[in-house]
Formats: sequence, structure tokens, C-alpha cells
Amino acid sequence: MANKMRHDAAPSWSHYQEKLSQLTKRSYPPEGLKLIKEAFDFAAEVHKDQRRFSGEAYMHHPVAVSLNAASLQLDTKTIAAALLHDTVEDGSTLRDIKKHFGEEIAFLVKGVTKVNKIKYQGVERAAENMRRMFLAIAEDIRIVILKLVDRLHNMKTLWALPSVEKQRRIATETLEIYAPLADRLGMGELKAELEDLAFRYVHPKEYQWIQKEVSRKIPEREAYLKNIIPIVQKALRREDIRSFEISARAKHHYSIWKKLLKYEKDWGRVLDLTALRIVLPDIEDCYATLGIIHSLWPPMPGRIKDYIALPKPNGYQSLHTTVFCTNGKPTEFQIRTRDMHRESEYGIASHWLWAESEKPEGGTRFVGKKFSWVKQMQTWQKEFRKNKGSGKEFLESLKIDFFKDRIFVLTPKGDVIDLPEGATPIDFAYHVHSEIGDHAGSAKVNAKLVPFHYQLSSGEVVEILTQKNRKPSLEWLKFVKTSQAKSRIRHTLKEKGSVEYFKRKK
Ligand code: MN
Repeated sequence: MANKMRHDAAPSWSHYQEKLSQLTKRSYPPEGLKLIKEAFDFAAEVHKDQRRFSGEAYMHHPVAVSLNAASLQLDTKTIAAALLHDTVEDGSTLRDIKKHFGEEIAFLVKGVTKVNKIKYQGVERAAENMRRMFLAIAEDIRIVILKLVDRLHNMKTLWALPSVEKQRRIATETLEIYAPLADRLGMGELKAELEDLAFRYVHPKEYQWIQKEVSRKIPEREAYLKNIIPIVQKALRREDIRSFEISARAKHHYSIWKKLLKYEKDWGRVLDLTALRIVLPDIEDCYATLGIIHSLWPPMPGRIKDYIALPKPNGYQSLHTTVFCTNGKPTEFQIRTRDMHRESEYGIASHWLWAESEKPEGGTRFVGKKFSWVKQMQTWQKEFRKNKGSGKEFLESLKIDFFKDRIFVLTPKGDVIDLPEGATPIDFAYHVHSEIGDHAGSAKVNAKLVPFHYQLSSGEVVEILTQKNRKPSLEWLKFVKTSQAKSRIRHTLKEKGSVEYFKRKK
């Protein structure tokens, strides 16, 4: 299991600093480094007599969390806040932090501490915890990223926790809340790491089984890829594509497990345990490379996915294809540009990759266009509080609106609209604008009229034709999927004093 080496001594500043520059491959401006050093010394002093369950000096934890934050290229204030993130619970006060480190860092530390307060115990608490997390997203996304990297390190040291019950509870929470959250923030690597770390505690037997099977199959697989890679390299060079990196990427245990569940535990149908990834300078090279691979080996129908033209809702972009390689072996290729690759690793955090000097004043609330849902969530959360919904209800609606599988459809202008699976043209209409929903007269999908309860699929072009005198119908509540549409329909019906609506209420 995890590395059980004891670290009795606290980590030193020089060791930390060395790691920091290794991870970020950059040198910090002197004032930035000074700030980080001050945070380091402050935290070291507060935690000096504390140990973790593993027996190691407590300081190893904030150091690991802060190095994780740094490797996501977050700004120096966030790196400092990561060092300080547990000090308020352990002897220091927010006032101290504000005095020493200023408003912004105190704000980040306070945010992380607030989210920490509630522990996962059944659905009510989970909902509350999640609600806090989303409030934090709305306030400053860096708080949530800190929470995620904090959880990552806690998962890595979960083996040291004395209670198996507790291990399971924390791992379950990681699987149900933190990993989906990392996914929605586009942080693919982090999500996969959290899932794999949680998997062994939540489903220990299944984990062992996958582990055993994978290690049995891997050597054969590797030998096979060793033959495939040079063929691809040669073909690309022949077409004058020279600047590329090609690498094999082992699929994560948890995603293999999920596939197995889908295919009745038939290993034969889990096509590959390894995918080949090709990273190139620009988009044209990506499509050219896809063509070259298809000229080498026939593609498997239905497995070509163009997430460049139609990115996933979390912003993920790549071309995917599975081809019948040598001996007819199905092999998956993932093709992307360097920028896309970076985004898929860092997700929303890659939006902080700006030089610190360019950072807008108080620019902590910056959210790229791809993550406009973060803003939507803020509004939604406010609505929810106004209507005084219960925690359970909130969790349910979150699961449906936020975590369940998504589809993406297009407006006639080609904008991508992200909706939950099973969404209808009415959900689409309310997503675009509440006025369009309220006055929807008819709906067209790929230029053909469809009924309002029609279930949309990814890639369809949806058009809503409005009529001034139309208004929502009570019937719509029976088939719409999003809370946004539901609450707006109720609202409008109430406002218009719909006889129908009040009759039903009695
Ligand atoms: Mn912590």
C-alpha cells in the first residue's frame, strides 16, 4: 500500500523550496518567495508539536498540499494559503493570519476551514457539505481547488487512519463528491487519482481483483505497444509531421471497473487497458494525424469522437478513435494539441497560468468562458436558499443537474448547450432564456418539428419558435429534467395566476 516510511522530522524550508522549483519549473519573484517562506515558517511554528496518524510530523501535510497547489500552477498567494490551511483549526486565528498575510490569504484560509467544518455523515450532512463547497465555488474557485488537493493528500495517507469505518466514509465521500467535482472542473488527472485512491477502500475486493488482472495483462500489452508506436512515428514523419510526442497511458483501475460493470464483467469487452496519446502543436496536425492513423488501420465504427469540434461540458478536447491494429487488436488513440493537453491536466486551474503581474486586481473571481456554469451555479444556489429547500432536495437536484451524465446540443447558431441526459426542448428553451421557455410555441430538432417532451441527444440542433401569447403549461412539469426549467415554470404559472396551478395545489 502507501509508502509507510516514517518522517519523524518536519520538512525543512530548503527541501520544500527545492521541490517547489522542481514542480513548477519556474523561479518565483523575490517578494513572492518571501511570502511563501513566511507562510512556511508560520505553519511550521503552529504545527510544531503535532503528528498525523501516520506518525509523521504534521507539517508534511500542509507542505504536500501546497506543493500540489503549486504543481497546478496556482498563484503564490494560494500556495501560501495552502501552507496555512490547517493552522486556524490548530491554534492560530484568522485574525493572526489577516494581520500577517493580508485580506486575500485570510479569505482563502477561511474558505477552506469553513468547508472543513462539516464531516460527511449520511445524506443530510453530505448535502450540507456539498452546499458549502458550491458556495465556495461561487465565492472563489481557488478555495475548492485547495479543498481538492487537501483531500488528495488525505486520501494518500488514509491507510494510517485507525478506523476502517472512517476510512470507508472518507473514501465514499471522495468518490461521490470530490472526484465528480474535479471532473466538472476539468481536472482529469486529479479526478482519476482521487477515484483510484478511494476505490480500494470503498470496494476492496473488486479493487484487488482488477489490480490482479491488470498486472497480469500489462506485460503483454506493453510488448504489443512497443511494436505499434514505431509504426505510427514512421507514418507521421512520412507526412512531414515532426513535432509530436507519443506515449502509452494506462487506464485507471476505477474506470476499468466502471467499464466492466457496464459489460457484465466481461474482460473481452473492455477493449484496452492502455490508450496511445499523441500530442501535437496545432489542431490541423490533430486531424491530419487522425487521417494517417485511419489509413494505417481501419477505425471501429461508432468509436471516432471529435471532442475538438464538440468539447465535453467540462471543456475537455481531444480526438478519440479506436482502430483495429496489428492482428485486429482494438487500440485507442487520443489526439490533442499541447494546449488541450495542459487544460485536460489542470482544468480550471490552467486559467491561472497567467503571469502574476498580469493578474487583475482582486482577480480571484476570474472564470473562463468554458466554466460559465460556475456562474450559473451561483445564481441557482441563491434561488435555492430563497426558496428554503431542504438539504436532501438540494443534493438530489445537484445529482440530477450537475453530476449525472450530460448531453450537449447546439443552437441554430452553433453554440453548445450543456444539459442533463433526458432533457427536452423545454429544458433547452429555459436554459437559453426564461422568456424563450415561457413563450415556447413549438420546437424543431434538426429542422424537423418535435413534441415538447422529445428527449434530446448529443449533437442535435435545437430551435425553439416562440409566440407572444404562449405561456407554460402544467403538463411540462411532468417531463422537464432541469431544476431551472421546473422552478421557472412554477414561478410563471403562479404569477399568471394559472387556475390549473391553484386547483392542483388544493
Ligand atoms: Mn488539511
